[in-house]
Amino acid sequence: MELYIHIPFCVRKCLYCDFLSGAYDKDTRDKYTNKIIEEIEYFGRGMQSASLSSVYIGGGTPSWLELSSMDSICEAVYDNFRVDDDAEITIECNPGTATKDAFKKYRDMGINRMSIGLQSANDEELKLLGRIHDFNQFLRTYEYAREAGFFDVSVDIMTGLPYQDKKKLYYTLMKVGQLKPEHVSAYSLMIEEGTPFYDMYNFDSVKQQAGMPTEILPDEDKAYGLTKLTEEFLSDHGYHKYEISNFAKEGFEGKHNTGYWKRVPYLGVGIGAASFLRYIRGGQKEEIRTKNISDIESYLSTAFDGEYDRSYGSPAWEENDIISRKDAMAEFMYLGLRMTEGITRDEFESFFGITIESVYGPVIKELVSNGLILLSGGRIALTELGMDVSNRVLAKFLL
Ligand code: SF4
Repeated sequence: MELYIHIPFCVRKCLYCDFLSGAYDKDTRDKYTNKIIEEIEYFGRGMQSASLSSVYIGGGTPSWLELSSMDSICEAVYDNFRVDDDAEITIECNPGTATKDAFKKYRDMGINRMSIGLQSANDEELKLLGRIHDFNQFLRTYEYAREAGFFDVSVDIMTGLPYQDKKKLYYTLMKVGQLKPEHVSAYSLMIEEGTPFYDMYNFDSVKQQAGMPTEILPDEDKAYGLTKLTEEFLSDHGYHKYEISNFAKEGFEGKHNTGYWKRVPYLGVGIGAASFLRYIRGGQKEEIRTKNISDIESYLSTAFDGEYDRSYGSPAWEENDIISRKDAMAEFMYLGLRMTEGITRDEFESFFGITIESVYGPVIKELVSNGLILLSGGRIALTELGMDVSNRVLAKFLL
């Protein structure tokens, strides 16, 4: 079992951000911390102190939460669950939001992995994105993490930024490469409706999805060139691509996200957090996906003191779906194939009790003949070409 904890607080909103996050006052942050702890206790009671293989504290900007609050949250996790000795415990951090002392305290709280949001090493790009930090602040944050004893650090960068060309991206890659973090996530910028970016640039997402030139973003060919530059640079510097957007030094692949792609059950606490639960009911596997309410006031007024109800997961749920067998098969394929190692026929058969060919035979045949997936020793994985057009390939597995 994995645990995700959503901390929705940020110093201020970045101009491209459509995550569930924002600037909230101290009183709200304190009340939210108490509610998070109540939700952790609720799950802990219901799951009878299940064991956790990973904990991910994401946001928002968790490093902006008061240290005493973060300490209480971590304590609640340890008090209510059995945390595996080798559990990966990650905190997301944004440059300029935590001191050196805070990083040492995170280590004392049991946190052993840090994910730092850099996005770009070019200050003008950071300004354009509305980030609160410059590159030097990132460097200080990175040093603090190392000095505090974080030996597993991930750095987030973004490609496809407005006006980005290969030279600018190369500069970011070079600066990151010099630091030698264990893990790099490289996401393409998507400009979403409702963000200031969308309004500022009168952005046309229909054009973006169709790969047509827009006023400010690299067109499809340029964006492809930027993705390839990222992959080649990271590969030359000892990182292997283990998922569409994630690169790691050997042995430092993110456990938590790999769990998502392998359909390991997880609990999500906090606003908007999703859970994926699996039970045996009447001898049959039953899987549920739930999502918590997004509205912070409704979350703060939720009572978590009742009996655990496994049909709904958290009392703060607003979406709750039993996953049909067909949907579970589709998920198995499109989540598993995000990883470069792909999936195995045996795993499919042992989970669903039928062969993969009996469900996906024609699709697999078509994708193999188009050079988009590869079969090897019982394993099925996307080819490099398949990775390049992964959205289109993965959609083929929807039933
Ligand atoms: S720091 Fe992250 S979560 Fe916060 S506003 Fe910026 S992009 Fe959004």
